[in-house]
Amino acid sequence: MAVVVIKEKCKGCTKCVKSCPFTAITMEEKKAVIGGACTGCGQCVDACPFGAIEKTDDGKEAADLSAYHGVWVFAEQREGKLMQVAIELLGEGRKLAESVGCELCAVLCGSGVENLAGELFEYGADKVYYADAPELKQYTTDAYTKAIYEAITTYKPEIVLLGATHIGRDLGPCLAVKCNTGLTADCTKLEINPETKGIMQTRPAFGGNLMATIVCPNHRPQMSTVRPGVMEKAERQTGRSGELVKLSVNFAENDIRTKVLEVVKSAKEMVSLTDATVIVSGGMGLGKPEGFDLLKQLADKLGGTIASSRAAVDAGWIDHAYQVGQTGTTVKPKIYFACGISGAIQHAAGMQDSGLIVAINTNENAPIFDIADIGIVGDLYKVIPAIIEELDKLPEK
Ligand code: FAD
Ligand code: SF4
Ligand code: SF4
Repeated sequence: MAVVVIKEKCKGCTKCVKSCPFTAITMEEKKAVIGGACTGCGQCVDACPFGAIEKTDDGKEAADLSAYHGVWVFAEQREGKLMQVAIELLGEGRKLAESVGCELCAVLCGSGVENLAGELFEYGADKVYYADAPELKQYTTDAYTKAIYEAITTYKPEIVLLGATHIGRDLGPCLAVKCNTGLTADCTKLEINPETKGIMQTRPAFGGNLMATIVCPNHRPQMSTVRPGVMEKAERQTGRSGELVKLSVNFAENDIRTKVLEVVKSAKEMVSLTDATVIVSGGMGLGKPEGFDLLKQLADKLGGTIASSRAAVDAGWIDHAYQVGQTGTTVKPKIYFACGISGAIQHAAGMQDSGLIVAINTNENAPIFDIADIGIVGDLYKVIPAIIEELDKLPEK
């Protein structure tokens, strides 16, 4: 797709210059000239009163798009262990592959982690593309981008999914830029348009106040990142196998601009909200940081963990690692207790798919009650001790 000025029609009115959001148009000898900053957005086409700007389609891209096949999942591994989000993406990828009518593949990078291919087959991958090199042992942007970019240009997948982990959020945009395609970050829903077979990527926009569905009609691959915990994990089929395709990757001396000197793991308590089956979450209604001690008592009784709203994190009552919501972690436990949490849309975005939501709030009109399965109107400092007391009465198993 190219945007061109038809010089004979241009009257030099400069309207297009003002209309271009990317300052890509300049005037030369009273004629508009489109420069390299043009993104092809087409605003100037509509702005020109003389029909002097046109968007042309040379047909090449349509032909190129048809060369792309298959859904790929980036099989992120750390220290030889697959990240849970890779298994969730295989679950979602399988649905997409079935809707498109194509194969589901995983792309794995590392050093000596070929054994993970078996696991990926069992979780639904038909093919695993595996890049093995000492340079891929630790993640670096340059090494992983080079290995996967080369694989994409060779094998041409039509869809590439990555987890919105620290690594996926770094790698995804680099790959998208190199492939000259789009990337939709933090998708909460992925569907295939039955007519175009293109992917419809839905994500929260404008602070979570509306959901935007984004398409990538003219470029391939179509790329999305999805946060951990959002999609259902693929079911493991023991003994299932597939085809292992080894990628040849060679790194020149200057290919990798960074070196990992040391890996220092956070000494902080590791919080695994995505794996928890019971979460007892607290918000500003706790009134003080010590309120989390009471929540912990209930969480311990139920074999769960505590979590929080962002307001409690912002107040400095608890670490950000515990935050549930749009800018925190997305969780899907069997039971989610929302204690003194109003239920703002940004909080709900991270917990509304929980199995059973129990809300405890003094305000009967709090929005959390709109999504709660069980609503308790009352002071959490009275309700929670009462629940603990009842649990204590239950016979030990
Ligand atoms: P409040 O809204 O102040 O609610 C406190 C509740 O406690 C009230 O409903 C009150 O009735 C109740 N209460 C008071 N005393 C008691 C008591 N003794 N017993 C029982 N109930 C009591 N928020 C998140 O949580 N996660 C996010 O990821 C997130 N991301 C955001 C991203 C953006 C771009 C923006 C703009 C906001 C985001 N927020 C997020 C903030 C969100 O909008 C809310 O401000 C926040 O969730 C409110 O936290 P809260 O419910 O703890 O506090
Ligand atoms: Fe020329 Fe049209 Fe731009 Fe005016 S708006 S300068 S006529 S291209
Ligand atoms: Fe500017 Fe968009 Fe026109 Fe390109 S297509 S010149 S970016 S307004």
